[in-house]
Amino acid sequence: MPLSTSRKAQIVLLLLLAVLLLGGFLATSLVSYYASRDSIRAQIVNTELPLTSDNIYSEIQKDLIRPTQIASMMSRDTFLRDWALAGETDSEPMIRYLREIREHYGTFTSFFISERSRTYYQAKGVLKQISESEPRDAWYFRVRGMTEPYEINVDPDMANDDRLTFFINFKVSDYQGEFIGVTGVGLTVDAVVKLVDDYQRRYDRNIYFTDRHGRLVLTGAEGGPQGARRGQALSEIPALAPLQAKLPQPKSGDFSYEEQDRGHFLNVRYIPELDWYLFVDKHEEGALAGIRHSLQLNLLICALISALVLFLVYLATRRYQQHIVALATTDALTGLPNRRGFDLLANQALQEAQRAQSPLSALMIDLDHFKRLNDTHGHLAGDQVLHGFAEQLQGRLRQSDIICRWGGEEFILLLKDTDLATARQLAEKIRQQIEQAVFAFSGAELRITCSIGLAERHGEDSLERLIARADRALYRAKQSGRNRSCEESLA
Ligand code: GH3
Ligand code: MG
Ligand code: MG
Repeated sequence: MPLSTSRKAQIVLLLLLAVLLLGGFLATSLVSYYASRDSIRAQIVNTELPLTSDNIYSEIQKDLIRPTQIASMMSRDTFLRDWALAGETDSEPMIRYLREIREHYGTFTSFFISERSRTYYQAKGVLKQISESEPRDAWYFRVRGMTEPYEINVDPDMANDDRLTFFINFKVSDYQGEFIGVTGVGLTVDAVVKLVDDYQRRYDRNIYFTDRHGRLVLTGAEGGPQGARRGQALSEIPALAPLQAKLPQPKSGDFSYEEQDRGHFLNVRYIPELDWYLFVDKHEEGALAGIRHSLQLNLLICALISALVLFLVYLATRRYQQHIVALATTDALTGLPNRRGFDLLANQALQEAQRAQSPLSALMIDLDHFKRLNDTHGHLAGDQVLHGFAEQLQGRLRQSDIICRWGGEEFILLLKDTDLATARQLAEKIRQQIEQAVFAFSGAELRITCSIGLAERHGEDSLERLIARADRALYRAKQSGRNRSCEESLA
């Protein structure tokens, strides 16, 4: 196979291997990435978010149930009703009553508003007179008009530095069922806000509450989505437009939406006690960062392994190729270049000689009566002599000389920068050296002679012509009795 073809085959092999390795690695990495991503998403939607909303919901319920019972009890309390019906002459017993409730049950505030006098009593004393024209008192008139016995409302508490408070407002009626006022207790929402903050920080999710129109009623300390504050509607937040499109009005369920190219998962739950919706929102960015990172690491390792494998395969194929080339151009018995190897080197030498106009000589050497040696001592003995002869020949040569086993027991020497006279001297030295050499084989001492034909390149001689002339000279040497060197005269 020509060298260029085997180089091409090597490149194709490496490319194919690269495609297989990288393609295989990429496919398995991506498959495992997408599988992990789907399972993380499923875990967020099916477990994490509902669990958060369950926890928050039960925390709120826990916080609200007992105070609701206390407020209910107050609304049925005969002392409170009797005192109101008796004309509220002395506010002190009522204030004491409210203080007892607050201190004993650990509520944040406790209150009674009388319908008759419109006086707002609370644990610290008479707070104020309420009025229909005062917006902050609107809640009272709303409760008065309600058909339900009570409501839970979140408002700033005027009696306590306007801290955000859950108010549990119960209607109070006389023994005939006539409305005589509103009583109840208030609790700070601090505990719930703390819980929300804690969850947000710990689990990297956004938690907030809205009313049935999607207006924020309670958020963590940092605010709701995009830092929105209490009172703002979700529809007023531009970044949440994709969510609005899916969920114009709050309703319970699981939703997903995009916000500025970030995927979000959302669990919404209705809280009947408050008539609120609890939103637990998680963007997948944070959740997927870990597996994205491991995908990148995976791909990097795959690329490194692929590069290493390709490099090793490249080295192995290159060595194999060199080995094949060496096998194809070397003679196994003598270790000398064969004809193919000789052609490569000799053509190069010829071009150099042509370019530099330097002399180039060829010696064609043939062992004498070699067939006889084979016949007498056996083929193995012949091999041994051929091997020894090649060694002797090599020992004589310069680095620049080109030697070749031409075939059978024939050898060629191509001598660079060497004219016929110098070649003649060398041929004679070789002939004498071989004549005197003894080759040992199985205890026998074998001797051999050789005949040499010489020729020098002339004019535009091709390699073939030069060798043909040396061959003719060799023929003459054989004809003239062997064990001699002859040169071809120009003909
Ligand atoms: P001449 O002096 O005319 O060259 O006589 P010759 O016997 O050397 O020449 P001929 O061409 O008749 O025979 C060459 C012999 O060389 C015949 C062949 O068996 C032998 N031969 C060729 N290659 C090898 C080889 O690799 N090993 C051995 N042992 N013998 C070889
Ligand atoms: Mg011979
Ligand atoms: Mg021969």
